[in-house]
Amino acid sequence: MILILGGTAEARELAAALEARGVSVTSSLAGRVARPRLPAGEVRIGGFGGPDKLAAWLREHAVTAVVDATHPFAERISASAARAASQAGVPLLRLERPGWREREGDRWHWVDDLHAAATLLPQLGRSAFLTTGRQGLAAFAGVRDVWMLIRCVDPPEPPLPRRHELLLDRGPYTLAGELGLIDAHEIDVVVTKDSGGEHTVAKLEAARARGLPVIVVRRPARSADVPTATRVADALGWVTQAHAG
Ligand code: NAP
Repeated sequence: MILILGGTAEARELAAALEARGVSVTSSLAGRVARPRLPAGEVRIGGFGGPDKLAAWLREHAVTAVVDATHPFAERISASAARAASQAGVPLLRLERPGWREREGDRWHWVDDLHAAATLLPQLGRSAFLTTGRQGLAAFAGVRDVWMLIRCVDPPEPPLPRRHELLLDRGPYTLAGELGLIDAHEIDVVVTKDSGGEHTVAKLEAARARGLPVIVVRRPARSADVPTATRVADALGWVTQAHAG
């Protein structure tokens, strides 16, 4: 059986492709989102309890290969998967979509983390579109003089920025929709993680169209020891050729 660590569109695509080829696959979700989009095939939900327990799970379920297709900013589960796979002697592939590239007309400001984004924010605008997700918003709680439109899938937990409006929504988003939000709320700065991919890229196109600055949080560093694919097709090839047995 193939285990996909999921929570991303790519993980769902890979699960569907493997199912369609008759490969036995289980997708694992963290359980953060109340009503997650479910992938094809078996699904288990919730943390494993750390790398040792994940290693035991791999052995118990006779897992032949693991694909870590979690989000580029989900650091702990990836580290856990690397340790567990090596402990259990199971091959591991990281599936990670490429980051976004700056284009002509963009006014991007790269920062290392959400705290650095919060420090920079008041220098760039007064009305921010915050699209970094539900977790880590405490970093912005102390920011003064900036109103924030916070968009996430499920309601975030406090502490939150003093002056904000919450918009619960999930991608994919359109350019027209993002322009509509920017104009309606008189947004003058956008904050994002470098998540990459097509589903949420429209906010960057909208910012470019309106000439707005964007604070982009860099991806965390990853272990160089784990082989990585950037496309679902390559991950599919890796699984079907070597490890589907
Ligand atoms: P994280 O910090 O790396 O993980 C925290 C803990 O959650 C892990 O130690 C693990 O618990 C559990 N976990 C995470 N992903 C899991 C999975 N796919 N299956 C089973 N357990 C999982 O992760 P996160 O940033 O909270 O993200 C949680 C999930 O949301 C991930 O699956 C990710 O793909 C998705 N997601 C994250 C972001 C983001 O910006 N971080 C954005 C979109 C989607 P144990 O140690 O107990 O095993």
